[in-house]
Parts: sequence; structure tokens; C-alpha cells
Amino acid sequence: MSNFFIDLPKIELHAHLNASLSEDTVKALISQTENFGIPQDETFIGKESTRTFKNSFEMFKLTQRLTSTYEAVKFATKAVIGEFAADGVCYLELRSTPRSNKNTGLTKKLYVDAVLEAIQEFSEEHLDLIEVRYLLSIDRRLGVVEAEDTLNLAVEYQALPDSRVLGIDFSGDATVGDARDYIHIFEKAKDSGLKLAIHMAEVRGLDEESLALLSLPPNRIGHGTFLHENEKCKELILKNKIPLETCLTSNVKCETVPSTSRKHHHLYKWNDMGHPVIVCTDGKGAFDTTLSQEYQIAASECGMSRNETFEFSRAAIDHVFAADDVKSMLQTKWNQWRNLNLHYFTE
Ligand SMILES: [Zn+2]
Repeated sequence: MSNFFIDLPKIELHAHLNASLSEDTVKALISQTENFGIPQDETFIGKESTRTFKNSFEMFKLTQRLTSTYEAVKFATKAVIGEFAADGVCYLELRSTPRSNKNTGLTKKLYVDAVLEAIQEFSEEHLDLIEVRYLLSIDRRLGVVEAEDTLNLAVEYQALPDSRVLGIDFSGDATVGDARDYIHIFEKAKDSGLKLAIHMAEVRGLDEESLALLSLPPNRIGHGTFLHENEKCKELILKNKIPLETCLTSNVKCETVPSTSRKHHHLYKWNDMGHPVIVCTDGKGAFDTTLSQEYQIAASECGMSRNETFEFSRAAIDHVFAADDVKSMLQTKWNQWRNLNLHYFTE
């Protein structure tokens, strides 16, 4: 890959922690399970270590099981942050469902603490390299009671001074449950000042729940794969200027979109309308991609010049959930990078 796409400063706004672990990190977790106190009677570990990492969902399940202690969650989070930073990501919003585990004593609160401690440690060890924030995920497979519990945690953590918890992500298997059951939770989140990033219309036939979600409205849409096909949805999105987090490779590997080309992927439809879209990975480990690779695909399909690609990555700054002082800092970073890398634009 051209160094330009790796060097280019980038913003990642849609990254599920457990789906983002690289194969190396998974292997390191497997070898460290004993140190992390993950019960060794879980014989899956030996078997899983020989698996090919082709199946994204199997990998996701495996990584979820491997991150079942405080130390493992912290280790995984730090590793993922380091990998994004090495790929030129300057601002990252990680999302993950806080999980408890009776066998290891992990609680949902400890899970959040582990993620936040990893972020804090990484930022102290690598000053000014990357800004990281955390969105607590509500998994639609786990039901409303669990969701309310997660919301309460998010409210509690967001209220802490200099909190890196900025919002809620709503995700999980789109064919399970009805998102309308969660609307009151999202309203409460908004009232508490939390931002909302909501997975929507990943499969066809969810128009009614999509319309209910869009009337909140959310601050950002995850995927929104079929929203452009419904006029009412399209109207609400354009009117409220709700940005879409688009994940090219992930959609193809999940078989909701046939290819990453202009012909098939909705990213280009919205971009052509002048509507904000942000290129994201979803799960760089599970889908075997990198953010720089996703940018390269999008830029090549759109025929973007390097200058246009630079401005496209810069445009994502407007849609981060962090406060205005962070946005200004990022604008400065983009300007400085350009001044130091003029050769890319004159070649
Ligand atoms: Zn996602």
C-alpha cells in the first residue's frame, strides 16, 4: 500500500473493541490466559489457537471469551490503540459492551475501568500520538434490562471529571429484537448529555424501526446500509444532517453489500449527495482490514486526488463526539501534517 494512506492522519469512529484485535493480539491473549486468570478448564483455548482466522464471527466470539478478565481487557484495549496509532489514526472512538464474568470476578464496572485505564496508560506513554474515547455498547441481543444497566453505567462514568466516556453505541444482530423497545433508553441518554451512535438498517425490512430511531435523532448512524432506499428515512437524514459511519470491507464480508465498488456500496450514494460519510473499519481484526486500506478503496472508487483524500479525512473531525477544544487540536494536527508532507501533494 502507498505510504500516503498510512501516513495520512485519520479518524476512526466505528470500531468494536473485540472485533478490532489483530491476530497477533489474539495469539498473545491466548498465551497469556493463565497469567490473566482465565480458567484453564476452558479447553477451547487450545483448540481455538489452531483455527484459521477466516471466519469473522468465530473470531469475534473467541476474542470476547479471551477478554474475560480485567487484565485481558486492559491488554487488548492497549494493543488495539497501538495498532490504530501505527496505522495513522489520530483520534479513535472505541466501542464495547461492558461484560461481567462470574468465573473471573469481572464486573461490568471493572470492564469499563479496564478500558479506561488502558486508554489512560497509553496516552501517558505516548503523549499526543492519539486521542481515544469510549462509547459503551448496548447489544440488542441482550434485552432492555441489560441495556438500562449499561445506560446507568455510561451516565455515571460520563459525569466524572475529564471523562473519556462520551456516548452510547447500539449494535448487535440486526435481525434480533426490535430497536423501538430501546427508544426510551436513548432518550434518557440524550437527556443526560450522552451522544448516540446507532447501528441502523444493516439488513432490509427494518424501515419502521429505522424511522423511529431517526426521529430521535441519533448523532451518528452506524452503517445505514439500506436507508437510502426509503424516501422518508432519506429525508430525515438529510434534514438533520446525520453523518453515516460506513464500513466497506465489513459490509462485504457480512454479505449485506455485494462489493466495495461505487456500483454497490451506499457510501458513494451519500457522498455524491454531499452528505457526510466517515470511513471506518467496524472490526479491523475480524474483517482483516485497516483504516488506511479502507481509505485507499474509497479514494480510488471516488477518483479522489491526494488533496481531496486529505480533505475527506479532515472532514471527519466535525463528527467526533469529543468537545470543541479537541476538534481544534485535531484541525491543527491536520494542518501541521500537511505542511510537513507537502511532497505528497506535489508528486
Ligand atoms: Zn458495527
